[in-house]
Amino acid sequence: MANPDPNAAQPPLRAAIVPVTPLQQNCTLLWCTKTMRGAFVDPGGDLDRLRAAATQHGVTIEKLLITHGHIDHCGSAGIFAEELGVPIEGPHEADRYWIARLEDDGRAYRVPGKPFEPDRWLVQGDQVTVGELVLDVYHCPGHTPGHVVFHHPESQLAIVGDVLFQGSIGRTDFPLGNHQDLIDAITTRLWPLGDETVFVPGHGQPSNFGQERRTNPFVADSVLARA
Ligand SMILES: [Zn+2]
Ligand SMILES: [Zn+2]
Repeated sequence: MANPDPNAAQPPLRAAIVPVTPLQQNCTLLWCTKTMRGAFVDPGGDLDRLRAAATQHGVTIEKLLITHGHIDHCGSAGIFAEELGVPIEGPHEADRYWIARLEDDGRAYRVPGKPFEPDRWLVQGDQVTVGELVLDVYHCPGHTPGHVVFHHPESQLAIVGDVLFQGSIGRTDFPLGNHQDLIDAITTRLWPLGDETVFVPGHGQPSNFGQERRTNPFVADSVLARA
């Protein structure tokens, strides 16, 4: 028998999580294995660590993707984009309020923060590319009004920022937060992606939607049925 094609088992998308900033925010390096071109999702800070991760995996960064305007997710994104000479895509324009505050919030959280203007604001139904990968964009307001989620259907992988966590959901007590919007976004935009879908949250361990629908104390089916 001939040796199997070494490329056959290679998934089209690979991802590596790099926690950044004192808030231990999960920056995700994701890349197209065919072209070895990639993107950082939420490069909030610790740019030395992010540069090292890209080098370690042999990935050429072609853009930065942002889920929402909070300091730990995008404080250093403008600085990084300028340095790398790459565009920023996301979040939704409703997060202008937060992006404008990045310098002030950076002082408070000890993260280099700099306001930026994304090259592309995203809306519900948009798609973004990374190499030859195509990810779908879902607008999921509630934690912030302009929060977006990135989903790669072929990999059954979603990067959800601070919308949903293993066993919890995003805070909605910040300015412009809205609890009902968040619950609606999770149930009408994330759950339809399927129980098998694995998600990388903005903080903590990955999980999948099915597990959260069974056990999450805020959004499990049984909990919402009682509400
Ligand atoms: Zn946040
Ligand atoms: Zn966060």
